[in-house]
Amino acid sequence: MKIKGIIFDFGFTLFSFENPSVEKYYECFKKGLLKSIESLKQENIILEQEEIIKEFISIFNKKKSSYFRESIKTKDEFPTSQIFKEVIEILKEKGLILEQSVLKQEFLEELSELYHSCEEEEWKPYKETKKTLESLSSHKTLKIGLISNHPNHKTVKNMLKNNDMKKYFNAIVTSAKFGKRKPNRDIFFHTLKKMGLNEEDAKDCLMVGDEAADAVGAYKIGMKVLLKKREYEFPFETKIDIPNLVKITSVSEVLDYIY
Ligand SMILES: [Mg+2]
Repeated sequence: MKIKGIIFDFGFTLFSFENPSVEKYYECFKKGLLKSIESLKQENIILEQEEIIKEFISIFNKKKSSYFRESIKTKDEFPTSQIFKEVIEILKEKGLILEQSVLKQEFLEELSELYHSCEEEEWKPYKETKKTLESLSSHKTLKIGLISNHPNHKTVKNMLKNNDMKKYFNAIVTSAKFGKRKPNRDIFFHTLKKMGLNEEDAKDCLMVGDEAADAVGAYKIGMKVLLKKREYEFPFETKIDIPNLVKITSVSEVLDYIY
């Protein structure tokens, strides 16, 4: 039986965040949020007043964490651009926003890109990633896809583009754009379709990921799963209960499973 397609996860599968810690993530998002606020000030959307900026940060962080909790339960994704939109609307109602016109989606996306810009610099591909993708793409009939649970589509695309890797993928799917997060099965079906495959092809496809969301989602729709061992443990890791789960330590090992 021939492998028709392979889908990769992004974080800790193809790319790594060096020395990750909760503190480092927070620090990165704090830096990013200040950049976004700087842009709002430059556009004369918010006033340069300490209390308003504090209020902005406080509402943003509260919304972000409540949406994060909700996404764990419902697997719905709440894009960063939506959070910016809602925060600006709340501040507008409070009379703390100067701009009266409706904010364009384009600008909201720019704000999101700035918010994730620090993170964008931190994620680096593993040394085996490029060679592996290059080698996979030499299999003419093999389709290559990517699914990332990320709240900003452009950030994932930028990271692939900046590392000259976008060209290897037949489909790049993020939860931000699709609206649902892994392990929701629809995001897997949607990706297969974008790769030019259908639901029945799932059994002839491989999923490569580092956590339960990747493995369980793919397993449920009949895909074969390769679990990449991560160099760091996450807090509150979900145990993966899949029979005969194949574990790999380097992404280059996927080449042994393509035939
Ligand atoms: Mg991952």
